[in-house]
Amino acid sequence: MCGVFGLVCHEPVNQLLYDGLQMLQHRGQDAAGIVTASGQSFHMHKGSGMVRDVFRTRNMRELIGDAGIAHVRYPTAGNSKSAAEAQPFYVNSPFGIVLAHNGNLTNTDELFENVCYRDLRHINTRSDSEVLLNVFAHELETRIDGETLTVEHIFDAVTELHKMVRGAYGVVALIAGYGMVAFRDPYGIRPLILAKQQDEQGRTDYAVSSESVAFNGLGYEVWRDIEPGEAVFISFDGEFHSRQCSDQAVLKPCLFEYVYFARPDSKIDGVSVYQARVDMGVSLAEKVKRELPWEEIDVVMPIPDTSRPSAMELAHHLGITYREGFIKNRYIGRTFIMPGQAVRKKSVRQKLSPVASEFKGKNVLLVDDSIVRGTTSREIVEMARDAGAKKVYFASAAPEVRYPNVYGIDMPTREELIANGRSVEEIAAEISADGVVFQDLDELIVAVSKLNPKIQGFDTSCFNGKYLTGDVDEAYLEKLASGKVSAELIQKVNPTLVDHSVRVDDNQDDDE
Ligand code: AMP
Repeated sequence: MCGVFGLVCHEPVNQLLYDGLQMLQHRGQDAAGIVTASGQSFHMHKGSGMVRDVFRTRNMRELIGDAGIAHVRYPTAGNSKSAAEAQPFYVNSPFGIVLAHNGNLTNTDELFENVCYRDLRHINTRSDSEVLLNVFAHELETRIDGETLTVEHIFDAVTELHKMVRGAYGVVALIAGYGMVAFRDPYGIRPLILAKQQDEQGRTDYAVSSESVAFNGLGYEVWRDIEPGEAVFISFDGEFHSRQCSDQAVLKPCLFEYVYFARPDSKIDGVSVYQARVDMGVSLAEKVKRELPWEEIDVVMPIPDTSRPSAMELAHHLGITYREGFIKNRYIGRTFIMPGQAVRKKSVRQKLSPVASEFKGKNVLLVDDSIVRGTTSREIVEMARDAGAKKVYFASAAPEVRYPNVYGIDMPTREELIANGRSVEEIAAEISADGVVFQDLDELIVAVSKLNPKIQGFDTSCFNGKYLTGDVDEAYLEKLASGKVSAELIQKVNPTLVDHSVRVDDNQDDDE
């Protein structure tokens, strides 16, 4: 998962972009980048690490201009963790374009082949985002034909791009000398939202972000979500244009954003993430009533932080005491590789520690937003027992995660998912809980969609294996699991391209 942010305003944007990125840090901690535009020039700084580590004062000083885009990256399956793939990406033709992308494409191989063999463009990384940028650049180039760029050229290019590209994409881009473009895939799988403000002279400044939370500290007012398939263009002199660029557009955002990924203080497609999580707690409470001996539960506890709104509401609904039994260490650092020292995997126990008195002699119900591999829940159940709990029940605000996510959320392969091929009873046994309850998918859909009846459905693929783009089959998932999506093709097209691709979990943090 990643976060994107962009601004076109009437004052220097460097600090504003930095501040916005920090509010999106939860969407990706692995790399960050900013590009600003002044006149015909771009100024770029990007690298691996958290926002606070990537940007130094000297870098910030060089990011001059009143418009810019920014990105935080969380590498998704099959993608690389190298600094070379930090975004935004740049192409010099036409005009000079930089682009930042949140999401994941599912037909990268086909696009890669077109871009390299048909369009004779060069791709220098294994990133689908660089491919996406080149598709956009090519479509723009073929339309210009010597004239100056018009808004229609831009929207026509996005229209064609939507026809060619499959997958999830929330995109911000700058075209040198012209303005900022932002567009969203025809299902609106990944979020993208607009905000604006009036400056002291009454001029309008515009901002675009993956999540509304980025606007909170900047004084920008949320305006509206970018529609699925829609593109907007804001010229550097402040003119706003928009157009629906897909005749297939339908709003089906990613359900997992509401469950886990987005910040609770964001609103996505008209739905308050916080309220959605509260409402998930109500339906989960009803399921607990149906499936667990709930009258014997003494206390409900969240696994911090995401599950808190659901856990609190669940406790309230059942009339059971709510307590914080686990305290999260907010300052957990990096694991360094020291000579002669075995590399220790960071365990859940370093991140969470129990308040023993809250467990002693009690039957506890632990609530988490989701159970993915089951590693966290297994450790937590053990910690609760070690702290003296009599019985430990576990409730997940999300249904069983059974399928990988191919639209930009990093999920393990199917074999690693604890719910893959296991019944609820078997999952309970695996994590040593006295009972486990998962939210029903239908209930989850209701909890979110009732907050905005305009939502026509969701991407629910990680729960039920129904992939919206219709192009994800067994063979694709197998390729994804083996890390071979695009790998063979890229090797053919560009054999000298260094393969930096490492699955996140395999990669020991290092300083090189
Ligand atoms: P586990 O079951 O050990 O894989 O961990 C599940 C926990 O990880 C959940 O409680 C979530 O808070 C968190 N989580 C869920 N999905 C993701 C994801 N895609 N990336 C990182 N953390 C996640």
